[in-house]
Amino acid sequence: MQYIDVQNQKVPALGFGTWQLKGQDCVKGVQKALDTGYRHIDTAQAYENELDVGKGIAEHGIHRDEIFLTTKIWMDNFDPDKFMKSLDESLNKLQTDYVNMLLLHWPDSDHDMNETLDLLVKAKEQGKAKMIGVSNYTIDLLGKAKEHTGNQLATNQVEFHPFLDQRPLLRWLDDHDMFLTGYSPLSRGDVMDDETMKQIAEKYGKNPGQISLRWALQHEEKVAVIPKSGNPDHIESNFDVFDFELTQEEMIDITNLAHPDGRKVDPDFAPNWDTPRKAA
Ligand code: NAP
Repeated sequence: MQYIDVQNQKVPALGFGTWQLKGQDCVKGVQKALDTGYRHIDTAQAYENELDVGKGIAEHGIHRDEIFLTTKIWMDNFDPDKFMKSLDESLNKLQTDYVNMLLLHWPDSDHDMNETLDLLVKAKEQGKAKMIGVSNYTIDLLGKAKEHTGNQLATNQVEFHPFLDQRPLLRWLDDHDMFLTGYSPLSRGDVMDDETMKQIAEKYGKNPGQISLRWALQHEEKVAVIPKSGNPDHIESNFDVFDFELTQEEMIDITNLAHPDGRKVDPDFAPNWDTPRKAA
């Protein structure tokens, strides 16, 4: 496992995403991931699976200290009278007193950002989150958030894969001692069909998904990735990315696969992205 050193803590750079995993599929997926060696698990209030993630961890029997657990507060719960209550409910479902990382799931123009950030900082001060961060923030929003919170935010969780150019954002995060947590690192499976990815994969006896994860983890900047799978074979193969290294030329070739249509996650409430929106 590769670790990211940030704020005197260690973050396992390869995590397990759980969006769309529910019920026994989620419980089993989490347990398979833990058996495989994953020690970083990503959930969110909006995934409606915190109960299942908590059950998976508890029934596995792994010690709480060994896991880096992330959840995210949904925008409806940014109301000051809901925020802490919703976090307590999340902790209850996850069967823990704290998460390692607490994120604001999206920027939300209906709520005062500074007020919401104050609640996030308070959660950390109360020990309910070891680290705090945001998700789906642009450089502009990050600048404003940092101005308000100082050096408190540790990560921005954003879409990150070879088809989307996130270099400006990545550089900004690196310059400000933050790491990028990459979601949809397989571009939801699309990397498997790309010819360049297939060619590089063949050279190393790997699959294109492994090349995509390796590419993300091999950046000079601090990058974590959280691929999701409900398939035990995929859960294993996505973890098997630490026994080879891409050349500098291959890193560049993969980075050059980015294109304006590469963004997968672009709901109508999304902010004004630093890189182009998906074509309509
Ligand atoms: P992803 O991890 O890029 O891709 C998941 C898809 O790829 C699933 O359909 C999965 O199917 C398939 N897959 C996984 N491994 C594979 C393999 N080895 N071979 C072939 N197919 C494979 O996309 P994602 O779920 O959008 O992103 C990952 C995680 O990031 C989420 O689960 C969630 O935790 C987080 N996320 C956060 C946000 C946010 O707003 N903060 C947004 C999106 C996602 P199988 O299950 O069948 O393997």
